[in-house]
Order: sequence, then C-alpha cells, then structure tokens
Amino acid sequence: MKIGVHISIAGSIDKAVDRALEKKCDTFQIFTRNPRGWKFKPLDQAKAQEFLTKLEASGIDPAVSHMPYLPNLASQNDATFSKSVEVLATELDRARELGLRFVVTHLGSHVGAGKEAGFKQLIRACNSALSNSQNDVTLLLENTAGTKNSTGGTFEDIGEIIDGIDQRNRVGVCFDTCHGFAAGYDVRTSSGLDETLKQLDTVIGLSRLKLVHLNDSAGKLGSHLDRHEHIGLGHIGSQGFKVVLHNELIRSLPLILETPIDTRRDDEENLRRVRRLSQ
Ligand code: ZN
Ligand code: MN
Ligand code: MN
Repeated sequence: MKIGVHISIAGSIDKAVDRALEKKCDTFQIFTRNPRGWKFKPLDQAKAQEFLTKLEASGIDPAVSHMPYLPNLASQNDATFSKSVEVLATELDRARELGLRFVVTHLGSHVGAGKEAGFKQLIRACNSALSNSQNDVTLLLENTAGTKNSTGGTFEDIGEIIDGIDQRNRVGVCFDTCHGFAAGYDVRTSSGLDETLKQLDTVIGLSRLKLVHLNDSAGKLGSHLDRHEHIGLGHIGSQGFKVVLHNELIRSLPLILETPIDTRRDDEENLRRVRRLSQ
C-alpha cells in the first residue's frame, strides 16, 4: 500500500523529500509555496532540480501538490476569480517542474450566489487553467464537507463540474474521508462504504478516483464540519478505518494523511496506526 502524510517544505523545497523519507512515506503531499498568501516567488530552478533528483532517487510515487487556501475558483468576483485561475494554472506548471503527478484543489465557495453560479465559475476556472498550462499533471477535485456556500459537497456536484470540463482526461477526484463523512457519507461500515463508492461510481466514475485524503473527523456524520482528527480518535474511529483500509479499491490508491500535529500525536504515530489497521 502507498501511505504518506502532508509534508512541510520549510527551509528549502527539496527538504520535503528528506522529511518524507524520514517518516517512511510511500507517497506525500506538499504546498509548493506559502499556502496562506496570494504572493509567491517563481520556483528556484536549482532547488526545483534538487527536489526532482531527490524525489526520483527516493522511489516515492506519487508526490502531490495541494493548492493554496486563498484562491476561490467558484468566486463571483472578477478580480478574485482571475487571480484564482492564475494561481491554478501556475500550480499545474510548478507541479510539472517538480515531478508532482497531481494538483489537489478545493472547489471554493459561491459566497451565497447559489450552487449553479458556483459550478459555472468552477468550470470556467478549470477550463481556462488547463488550457493555459498544457502538461500531463492531473487536476484532482477534492470533495468538501458541504459547509455553507461550498461547492462540491456531494458526488453529484463534482460530477456536474467534471461534465463541463473540456479536457476531462486531465481531471480526477481526491476523496477526503473526513469531508465525506461530515457531508453525510457513512464510510464507517462496509455497507456504508460500498454505498458511498457505488454513488461515486454512478455520478463520477470510479476510474476518476486517484487519491484518498485519510483523515478522521472531529464532527459527526452529516455535521458539515471540516475538522480533521487523528486516525481513530474521531467519529470515523478505529473500527471505521479498519473497514476503509480493507477495501480493495482504497488499498490500491495513494493514501495521504492530513491529520493534526499536536501534543496528543504526531505524523509517525498516525502512520503506524494506519499501517496496523490495514493489516
Ligand atoms: Zn484539501
Ligand atoms: Mn483533504
Ligand atoms: Mn479539510
């Protein structure tokens, strides 16, 4: 199985590979730059090359990029919208330079304008970013917890967005277990998980599922609360993750944890739990 965590690029981006190896990751995710600001510098060529060399030597595959937090691809505001599209196109290019196979993106907020208005912008955003960045990086749309005004809380939402995208062969899906559970998909039981995957297959197609964000949920089923919890300590729980981690399809996908780092537990311990529960 391919199991890993989100890794910091602090200091220098190539250090992320060293950290991933130290944590014995088979796969990992990074922000290629500060995720909390709009401003960023172009990639330093020497450091990008160093990252790529280390990544290839590491045997880790896939390494994944996550979009920064501020862009809103469903924005109804022209200035925010165009800035967001530019960030996405740039991120696809940065990912290619770094040898990252996927860019994961959230689906943004329509800020009260309604779901259909949000879809329209999202589709425009994806089409424009994908045509401005012609490469083989796959854009992964991540399901959301279905919080107020968010787009992408249901598989139907994501299916509708994908249907509008021209270069659909460059688009896939990242399923976040915390977001899914908070949105009402009960992945804790084998019947609930089977039903969830059946629904995903019907409206999106299972072949689009390329990555799983493996997070426990601090919020209850259907709470629409986006709060990640350590594996086994949330409402999905150890039993729930045992079910998830014994599903054939899920076992075949890269699994990346975005669990908290706090006094209760670190990444290494969450990785150990996942490996134990998968046995
Ligand atoms: Zn995400
Ligand atoms: Mn996630
Ligand atoms: Mn989240």
